[in-house]
Amino acid sequence: MIDLKSLTIEKAHTMLVSKEISVNELVSAYLEHAKSKNPELNAFIEFFDGSSSLGEGAREWDEGFEKQITHAQALIDAGNAHLLCGIPYGIKDNILYKGHIASAGSHMLENYTAAYSATVIEKLNTAGAICIGRTNMDDAAMGSSTESSYYGPTKNPIDPTRVPGGSSGGSATAVAADMCLFALGTDTGGSVRQPASFCGVVGMYPTYGSTSRHGAIAMGSSLDQIGPFGKNVRDAQIVFETISGYDTMDATSLTDEVRKQLSGNPLHASGEGGSAQQNRVRTVGVPRAFVEMEGISPEVKKNFEVSLEILKNAGYEIRDIELPNAHLGLAVYYIVMPAEVSSNLSRYDGMKYGFRDTGKDLLETYLKTRRGGFGVEPRRRILLGTYVLSAGYYDAYYNKALKVRELIKKDFEKVFESGVDVVLTPTTPTTAFTFGAKKDPLSMYLADIFTISANLTHMPAITIPSGSDTNGLPFGIQFTANQGQEETLFTITSDFEKNKK
Ligand code: GLN
Repeated sequence: MIDLKSLTIEKAHTMLVSKEISVNELVSAYLEHAKSKNPELNAFIEFFDGSSSLGEGAREWDEGFEKQITHAQALIDAGNAHLLCGIPYGIKDNILYKGHIASAGSHMLENYTAAYSATVIEKLNTAGAICIGRTNMDDAAMGSSTESSYYGPTKNPIDPTRVPGGSSGGSATAVAADMCLFALGTDTGGSVRQPASFCGVVGMYPTYGSTSRHGAIAMGSSLDQIGPFGKNVRDAQIVFETISGYDTMDATSLTDEVRKQLSGNPLHASGEGGSAQQNRVRTVGVPRAFVEMEGISPEVKKNFEVSLEILKNAGYEIRDIELPNAHLGLAVYYIVMPAEVSSNLSRYDGMKYGFRDTGKDLLETYLKTRRGGFGVEPRRRILLGTYVLSAGYYDAYYNKALKVRELIKKDFEKVFESGVDVVLTPTTPTTAFTFGAKKDPLSMYLADIFTISANLTHMPAITIPSGSDTNGLPFGIQFTANQGQEETLFTITSDFEKNKK
């Protein structure tokens, strides 16, 4: 019996290369466990092992499930396998895997079969990782609870009467419930970090442009990034390092040169470099006014203080900082994102992809298709986005939002230039809420207050579990670094992970 609970990517890798277990045994153990849990949790929409219906072309030689396992085993037997070789993982239902359905949790794309694989999937296939299925999500990735999925809600594995967060709730649940060893999500305003926090796992939004968006179903193109879920920081790091890199198929992808420049940027005015930089005391910035805002639960605030104490005891300098415009992030996001949504979702018109409801003429076909294919939230956002982009309102709303977005970015840049390595905030204003608790869309939107700054500023952020509340529900703490500073983030979050024990 493999103890799935204690397994990490590195442990599984060691067991595979030492021949303690085979790839087939590892994948089968996860699939068996996942299938036994799925009726209760609804984390997976479909398993890719052939036990549920597959889309056209799924049996091509390089994508047949059995063949992937044999191939991964051969790589391991050959003695130079990648750390992810043979490791089972799940993908959010909005990441394309050739020959499989990718529906974005939506009726609109219920029967859409991907004609090609996302770049991140190609990279994971090259490494020999095994995708066991697609995970549940909010309709078109809009939501913070996975309640709006066309396939019904996913349950939080820690307390199934509560939501797992969203929109990547299926991926978060899958990792937290040991249904796979890691998973991918997409994060436009927090959809990896917020559910990771609610389910007690690690989740990451990488520097915008460091992971390719090619093959991710677009929501807000200036905000979207694919990010990993893992059981610990190291697992998230391994996945990030595998899936990141320049991609000619994504016009916003950062070249290796730019990433090198960003990661090598002297963070501090003093411009120290090399080992002096490594050995100096690291500084954690605390945006007091932002964290103490109204609407943040007292328990979350308390946990934040406990986390600060852990960092202080571990030798970090804690410094109060100002992010005077951060509280405006939510308002900016709910203008910029719907604007981009209205543009990105215009392609779903019943002519090119997916669902179609034919009317008596072309206009009626459009109307019936879009009304019937999308749930309430995507329709609300399309309307909102169309409004803020319309002549007469463009300057008043959209352009203004872009200006404030720039101010928020400048706030963060100023903080990092002053010598702060990471900014610390809670990941979410509350722990996981119960089903139906946030019927009013505005109260749902508040769940993203701490996560959206990273998307707006294109800065990397990681959430890591930081304890539990009185109901046993996990807290998450979020570390944000300057663009390209993933190394700094991984170093500091690993350190926190070690010290919190
Ligand atoms: N909860 C946010 C929203 O509804 C984030 C979505 C996301 O990151 N995909 O917009």
